[in-house]
Amino acid sequence: MEMTKIVEDVAFNILKQAVIYVPDDVKQALKKAYAGETSETGKTQLKAILDNIELAEKYQAPVCQDTGTIIFYIKAGSKAKDLDKIEAALISATRKATKEIPLRPNAVDPFTGKNSGDNTGRYIPALNWEIVSGDAIEMTVMTKGGGSENVCLGGMMVPGEGIKGLKKFVVDAVVKAGAQPCPPNILGIAMGGGADISMRLAKKALLLPLSEHNSDPEIAKLEQEILEAVNMTGIGPMGLGGITTVLGVHVDYAYRHPASFPAAVAFNCWAARRASARINADGTVEYLAHKLK
Ligand code: SF4
Repeated sequence: MEMTKIVEDVAFNILKQAVIYVPDDVKQALKKAYAGETSETGKTQLKAILDNIELAEKYQAPVCQDTGTIIFYIKAGSKAKDLDKIEAALISATRKATKEIPLRPNAVDPFTGKNSGDNTGRYIPALNWEIVSGDAIEMTVMTKGGGSENVCLGGMMVPGEGIKGLKKFVVDAVVKAGAQPCPPNILGIAMGGGADISMRLAKKALLLPLSEHNSDPEIAKLEQEILEAVNMTGIGPMGLGGITTVLGVHVDYAYRHPASFPAAVAFNCWAARRASARINADGTVEYLAHKLK
């Protein structure tokens, strides 16, 4: 089979997998939260979320009606063939997925308000490229819900306040977000680089499994401290109170200009949808994420 057709089929498959199956690490975290939640209302909400996940799997239907904005992360082997044709294949897969899964059409022209009807449009699906060695192509899709996107926040810290300022920025963002991002959430946090770089890193950090902690013990400690702080807000599952506001925190960073301290916090909702696959040069495919049916 032609490589571009394989890319299109695999992109369709991971999109389908992402919108139906909440990743196993997120499911486990939700189950653990349910067992540990002290608020009765919070517990009821977590139970409803877990039931919803089970029903989506049973009926092979998207786990949330908002199937999000489609974002691809591509690790392209420098020796892989037809790299210039991948974008077209991903757009085509997005159109097919919108029609056949189906996905909610979520791409709107900001000037006219007109919905394209097929989840595509200028810069959408969003593509993030990375060149790696080898001849394989690894693709990850994130379908990013609007409710959690609406509260993502970028800002400029006071450099002198350092990490203390960052922690305050994140806690304030979570308090301000309240019930809007459908908690429990996952937070991607990044600092440094520039305004665009910190937000890009924060969003990419949402792809990391909850079972994975930063390999730098200092950053892992910061992630834990932020997790504990935001869970003291009492916002709770779906904003109705409880100790489970955030399931996990991932922190990333880039070096910064001495005069600037950009920071960003990206929210994902409990329906933290992502899926990945690797296409080898011989056309064989490995699905890397959780379950594929
Ligand atoms: S924020 Fe997430 S769970 Fe809430 S409606 Fe949007 S996609 Fe669904």
